[in-house]
Amino acid sequence: MPFTSAHYPFQIDGEYPPVFLGRITPDEYDAADRKGFVILGRGGPDLQMIILGCRACGQPIQRRSNVVKKCKIDCEGCIRKKDEAAAVAIGAELVSPKAAGHRHLREWRLKCGHTVIRQRVNMHKAARGDNNAGCETCREERYAKEAQRYGWTLLGPVSDKAGYRRYQHTCGTVQDVSVGNMLWGDIACQKCTKGASGRPSFIYIFRIDLPGLPVIKLGYSRKPHKRLRHQLGIDLDVNTEVLRVIPMPSGFVAREEETAAHKILSLENPNWAVPKSDYGDAINTMGEIYRPDALSRIHALLNEIADRHPTDSSET
Ligand SMILES: [Zn+2]
Ligand SMILES: [Zn+2]
Ligand SMILES: [Zn+2]
Repeated sequence: MPFTSAHYPFQIDGEYPPVFLGRITPDEYDAADRKGFVILGRGGPDLQMIILGCRACGQPIQRRSNVVKKCKIDCEGCIRKKDEAAAVAIGAELVSPKAAGHRHLREWRLKCGHTVIRQRVNMHKAARGDNNAGCETCREERYAKEAQRYGWTLLGPVSDKAGYRRYQHTCGTVQDVSVGNMLWGDIACQKCTKGASGRPSFIYIFRIDLPGLPVIKLGYSRKPHKRLRHQLGIDLDVNTEVLRVIPMPSGFVAREEETAAHKILSLENPNWAVPKSDYGDAINTMGEIYRPDALSRIHALLNEIADRHPTDSSET
């Protein structure tokens, strides 16, 4: 019998695998060495399984002999360290290294105390500032509170529109409203009043000269100048300019056209969009920020939009 009753002294995946006395071949040694591992022995459930020690983090892991020889080896210990570091960077904590048994999902405890299951890649992005690791539960509670101040009850998300929620007014009317507009009370019930979304709106282009990073913002608003100077949280010493404003017959139309324009821009040249990590908190928005070389294309898109919606209203 080639095996002993000995067991490996450290747990691997929660178990102490049996260790076999079996010859390690030179090509197994070489392959493991090239990939950053030392071979600690042959270990359960059969002789084809090898126990490797990671030179980077010290964690023992198990792989089949042909995997050692032929495949890339990702060390669970190193992966876990990266996940833990990402969590720490945003004040969170890694709870479970394999949530729901899915290899890309992890369970995390956010700094508010709520536990969430998220993709590793998303938390790593959050640690770099490329997306938000905010807590959905806390966020929805906040949205509900903001809405209450204006007499609206938050009902829930709108499936096809990120950034929008379904709200119910005290009169019973249900409307989909952008969270940003609700925050500013920039919303009127379509039944109780004529309705903010029915009032004229504008698609705008802003130039924002962040230090060393001049950018363009494309968006829509009922009051573009107010949006630029008061809602985007831009430092007062940053030069900004409203480059263009075109009137839209309603907020609904403005939103549809603006969303379509962003889609076209991202399809035509994904490099036009400036990632959130580049401008961070300097502009209080998650997107819609472009490099100046996108400007002529954006102007052309606005020309087309203006042609589709001839109107003679002006900004109020
Ligand atoms: Zn490792
Ligand atoms: Zn929370
Ligand atoms: Zn109402």
